[in-house]
Amino acid sequence: MMSKKVSRNNNLIQEQIAPQQNIPFSRKSPGYGNSFIDHSKHATPVQLSAGQNNSLQPIQLKTPPASTAAGMTRTQFEQTVKQRFGVQKIANGTFQDQMDIVTYHQAPIPGDLEQSTWQAWDPGSSSPVYEYIIKGFDDFAAGIGGLPPVRNITFFDMSYERKDVPVTTANPAGAVSVKKTGVGADYGGGSLNIYNVAGQANITLPAGRSTGTKGAALPTPTPEQSIKRIIAHELGHGLQEAALTPDASGKVLDKDMVKNYGNTIGWTSSGLYDIRETSGVVKQAIQNANTPPAAFKITTSNWNDPKWQEQPISAYMVKVSEFEDFGEGIMAYVHDPTSLKARSPLRYEFIDTHKSLWLPNLVQPKP
Ligand SMILES: [Zn+2]
Repeated sequence: MMSKKVSRNNNLIQEQIAPQQNIPFSRKSPGYGNSFIDHSKHATPVQLSAGQNNSLQPIQLKTPPASTAAGMTRTQFEQTVKQRFGVQKIANGTFQDQMDIVTYHQAPIPGDLEQSTWQAWDPGSSSPVYEYIIKGFDDFAAGIGGLPPVRNITFFDMSYERKDVPVTTANPAGAVSVKKTGVGADYGGGSLNIYNVAGQANITLPAGRSTGTKGAALPTPTPEQSIKRIIAHELGHGLQEAALTPDASGKVLDKDMVKNYGNTIGWTSSGLYDIRETSGVVKQAIQNANTPPAAFKITTSNWNDPKWQEQPISAYMVKVSEFEDFGEGIMAYVHDPTSLKARSPLRYEFIDTHKSLWLPNLVQPKP
């Protein structure tokens, strides 16, 4: 795991995705561990620009501009995300851009990020990816009631991560750069980076509640579904920032949101437990700040087991912390609320009853 120093400075939320695999979805959020507090304290405050419509009016969504078989053009994409969502800058990231992200604008560090092997990603003058991203934004706004501010969208071939190592004479920075080939997107402080591999991702959602003796089926998603789900997960992290950002009157909207979410659905410092198991011992242990019995611990290998009462929707949901659980919960709430409600009524209820709290810091798409 990366140190807290890295997560504080990096201020990015990264996901590992499982490309073209029909196995339980496995992603990692390096640097966050189980502590959202460290991240939030140092998160870049999210400010709405003056020109953005921040009203609470119901959203009128329009269908994206018609696309050809080859997909939407880049020009259409840029015009649409600027006009509709208030994005200010869309770019194919340069080597220097990626260096700045990985090194925090400091001196280069050794490792995989080298100019001689670095590649840009240009999705092209037209691509279906553009339309999927816009649909991902629209679906999110329709499900949640608005969008966290996204000022920059940058396309990169691949994610690189800064990793702390011991300081030596040869490596005075005490860090190396490491390729993260399975990261589809990340979001932090209003910047959304999208990586080439997102187009080959396989982001599944269970078909419904797991019952009887088998886990619910995980239908293979289309590329469009996977990209829209990645977008929803990332914008879900944007909601976490929105909840922690002061509104126009200076009031932080929902300071303990992630902690409350975690407590509600069974997260403890030793992992996730089935908080709705019928004997009540898990609930009681959590109330008394004790570790619940191991028999009720939900893990990446048993997450889809029908024996759970409060059923997660992915392995990744249970893998890291309540912070990543929330991103997955938002993704399911936006893209298959019926399944989320059937599997995880507590998660569904939490999101459904809290989302209005975050609206003052969300952006309403323009028609
Ligand atoms: Zn995440």
